[in-house]
Amino acid sequence: MLILGIETSCDETAAAIVDGDRRILADVVLSQIDVHRPYGGIVPEVAARAHLENVDAMVAAAMKQAGVGFADLDAVAATGGPGLIGGVMVGVMTAKAIALAANKPFLAVNHLEGHALTARLTDGVDFPYLLLLASGGHCQLLAVLGVGDYRRLGTTIDDAVGEAFDKAAKMIGLGYPGGPQIQEWAAKGNPTRFSLPRPMKGKPGCDFSFSGLKNAVRLLVETLPKPLSDTDIADVAAAFQTAVAESVADRTKRAIDIFTRQWPHGRHLVVAGGVAANAALRAALTVLAARSGLVFLAPPLNLCTDNAAMIAWAGVERFRLGLVDSLDFAPRPRWPLDPTAPKAAGAGI
Ligand code: ATP
Ligand code: MG
Ligand code: FE
Repeated sequence: MLILGIETSCDETAAAIVDGDRRILADVVLSQIDVHRPYGGIVPEVAARAHLENVDAMVAAAMKQAGVGFADLDAVAATGGPGLIGGVMVGVMTAKAIALAANKPFLAVNHLEGHALTARLTDGVDFPYLLLLASGGHCQLLAVLGVGDYRRLGTTIDDAVGEAFDKAAKMIGLGYPGGPQIQEWAAKGNPTRFSLPRPMKGKPGCDFSFSGLKNAVRLLVETLPKPLSDTDIADVAAAFQTAVAESVADRTKRAIDIFTRQWPHGRHLVVAGGVAANAALRAALTVLAARSGLVFLAPPLNLCTDNAAMIAWAGVERFRLGLVDSLDFAPRPRWPLDPTAPKAAGAGI
């Protein structure tokens, strides 16, 4: 089986080809980071235009890399949401056009399902498993029970964790995206010089919150002499990173307790999303998982951040089950994985 996947829901224009034996035959990603850097964040209209300009070339590059033609494909998958509507439309239209021209089925994939199923592509993990999805746009804990069968155990009630990294970085004068820079500066800093809150720590449930921590960083920075010294930048970065890691670990610990009780045959704690790159967070999660008898799994970084291989793979899983979509499919800017979960107070889906 051969599936082409297209991802355009955020700031990566990506195309990939994956087969039914978990082989990635092609995987190309064009990041728009340089396009958005001058604005200090993603501008939706700019993103949509960049996707439109680049998507055909990315698909062509993936086809070339895999050495296949459209006629060889079994189906064409694209991210159908959630995400920035302009970008999602570009990917969905492109996939539909290829599907129509080559007479192949079209698959609309939920972007979060792509992240959720990545560990099955990379490691062949069996259901059920616990997933922490920590990215620029999402922060969720999900019990992954089967294809299309997800239970959301927690989500953010305000900012996503990557968003918090990016905003904190901006406040201490670091560039976009902030996560990698915070990690770099934190390595040189003293995490105990400043004390920052550990949001939600000890609270019932598994929801996240990062806006209070963000405000605490803002207030702390206001008290420091300007321009910030290198020591101050490093110490704030270290304090922030430690606070995030502790908060996420606390929430994940609670989710592990629920997960192991309800699904005792589950064996894995899996991470996905760009923030999964964070070494402090990985270290905290590795310890947590081991204590609970779970195996901690982090897919390679290029498959943790947004990519099309995960969309093609979710396509493989859905196609196998006959879950194809009609060409009438309308992009869904909001598309919760677990429709039964209560709505979060803030941005969470
Ligand atoms: P989506 O939320 O739709 O998945 P996104 O593009 O916002 O998409 P990703 O591409 O998965 O998210 O990840 C980007 C985020 O990951 C950014 O917020 C970035 O700051 C953060 N990030 C990347 N590396 C690190 C790191 N080492 N430590 C902390 N955060 C990081
Ligand atoms: Mg991204
Ligand atoms: Fe993503």
